[in-house]
Amino acid sequence: MKRICVLPGDGIGLEVVGCAVRVLEAVAPGIELLHADIGQSAFAEHRSYLPEDTLELMRTCDSTLFGAVTSSSDPGYTSPVLTFRKSLDLYANLRPVKSLVRAVPKPAIDIIIVRENSEGLYHQEEAVDVEGVTTHRRVTRRGCERIVDFAIGHARERKRHDICCVHKANVLRRSDGLFLDVFRERMANAPDLAAKDQLVDSAAMFLVTDPRRFDVMVTLNLYGDILSDVAAGVAGGLGFAPSGNIGPEHSVFEPAHGSAPDIAGKGIANPTATILAAAMMLDHIGMSREAREVEAAVSGTYSSGHLTVDLGGRHGSGSFTDHVLQRMGA
Ligand code: ATP
Repeated sequence: MKRICVLPGDGIGLEVVGCAVRVLEAVAPGIELLHADIGQSAFAEHRSYLPEDTLELMRTCDSTLFGAVTSSSDPGYTSPVLTFRKSLDLYANLRPVKSLVRAVPKPAIDIIIVRENSEGLYHQEEAVDVEGVTTHRRVTRRGCERIVDFAIGHARERKRHDICCVHKANVLRRSDGLFLDVFRERMANAPDLAAKDQLVDSAAMFLVTDPRRFDVMVTLNLYGDILSDVAAGVAGGLGFAPSGNIGPEHSVFEPAHGSAPDIAGKGIANPTATILAAAMMLDHIGMSREAREVEAAVSGTYSSGHLTVDLGGRHGSGSFTDHVLQRMGA
């Protein structure tokens, strides 16, 4: 039996994970769901934002479904998300972005963004001196090789045609230059996929004006973080973007959005990103049939006109999920 660690976290994390759990229970009643604490609630209970027991459960389960955490201004705060990404070696961040709603007056988008998840500016080394602060940005050959190889493998698996390397090698000649060199080297051995590259600033513009020019995008950590939110905006908003953090042994799936304290507790958060993250997780643990069933139910719910509050519709988290479950025959 597959075992899944469930970490709702804070704010709307609780609400949207609750919706995704209802969908998982309906589509895959055989999997075991084990809840644990992370974020503010974990701190209140265990004096840790990521208790060791939670991390151990994540290590021993087949995968994890995570909601969101609210950051703290406490000077001793360390992000539990960055900690689990590092501890579990989740080096690849996978963010598929696809338009589901025809009502959105934006160009159609269907892109897979593969973001390096373990280094770059998220290395979190900042040195303070009398004049200011220097932030260390780490780009290693191994880091570049494994993220490019991951993108190639994923593109093939998903029957995609091209990969675009997004960088700023004209300014960051050594670090982004290394990333671009590795991309070209690895793509030379992948003749079945077309290799493209684009500077990050113009890539941001094309994502908004002409997203159809991208198929799979591979990029460094901060660029990927920003571009995937831009892409989510084109698809309809943050409530639509699922993501997967994937490593050689472990994986964590989550919505790309945060804990949204401004709407927490109101029942209006869009649960789509988290339900689709749960579908990505099912795929990852070998339950592709169930994953497709969930995706079809979500897209069918939108195409039959049931829109969530963030799109100007009337459905809150619960009633939208009711419709998804209905379409699954649950
Ligand atoms: P983080 O730093 O954790 O990424 P953030 O400050 O970028 O968080 P989010 O929590 O992602 O913020 O929210 C950004 C905005 O998007 C907020 O106004 C929020 O209400 C909205 N938002 C985020 N997720 C959803 C959702 N699932 N449904 C509706 N609106 C959302």
